[in-house]
Amino acid sequence: MLMDTHAHLDFPEFAGRLDEVLERAAAAQVSEVISIGIDFETSRQAVAIASRTANVWATVGLHPHGACRLDAGALAQWRRLAGAERVVAIGEVGLDYYRDRQPRDIQRACLRSQLDLAVELDLPVVFHIRDAHPDFLALASDYADRLPPSVLHCFSGDWATAERCLEFGWFLSVPGVVTFTKAEVLQDVVRRAPLDRLLLETDAPFLAPVPYRGKPNEPAYLRYTALKVAQLRGLDLDALARATTANAHRVFRIAAEPGSVPPVTAGEGGGDVRA
Ligand SMILES: [Zn+2]
Ligand SMILES: [Zn+2]
Repeated sequence: MLMDTHAHLDFPEFAGRLDEVLERAAAAQVSEVISIGIDFETSRQAVAIASRTANVWATVGLHPHGACRLDAGALAQWRRLAGAERVVAIGEVGLDYYRDRQPRDIQRACLRSQLDLAVELDLPVVFHIRDAHPDFLALASDYADRLPPSVLHCFSGDWATAERCLEFGWFLSVPGVVTFTKAEVLQDVVRRAPLDRLLLETDAPFLAPVPYRGKPNEPAYLRYTALKVAQLRGLDLDALARATTANAHRVFRIAAEPGSVPPVTAGEGGGDVRA
């Protein structure tokens, strides 16, 4: 069984058809999904989806694209949301110097505030880092010995950057981009990284793998990413699935045996998160 460690299940693309999307995922052996928040509202929705859906968990965090207003009041709201049931990480948070939608000093300050919160709550972090790896590594080295093992989502660095992150004890999450013929740098990282530090993700509805490149992505398509990674590693799909799912359970501290997770009925959990 595969785990999609990064999907945005609250996005409009999935509205009204989430059951069907998750059924297709299960039919493609993608039996578990982590739904990722990018701001307060989407984080709240991710928590709500996780609270009513078996085998779905949530992260909460403010993406570097979002205007950062993390004063004491806002941080108290985030702290409360992060304490909700089935929240497994702070994220996605980070630095995005590619889109540069917020001033870079604000992005760094916003990231630090959220890393302080992750340290305080002892939660791993899901990082979004784009064209900002040197600044990220400088900042991350301040936190590496205090944060629980964390995740570089949609890893886009080179092998030297990967090595630094691996030295921190962190995990590299591989997106559908790995199926693109020009993704040689990522394919190299995937070949060289220790198998016990690799995760798989869709980033749905974005970044669909070949043969769906350019179309809306969904968790079921994780299978194509997994097949490519298995090929790069010289493994069969089952062995790759076992390893990456075990890694995901370890970093997100989710109990093993995916089939044994009891469904959570609506109303349980998530009810106390409205800040
Ligand atoms: Zn991202
Ligand atoms: Zn994302």
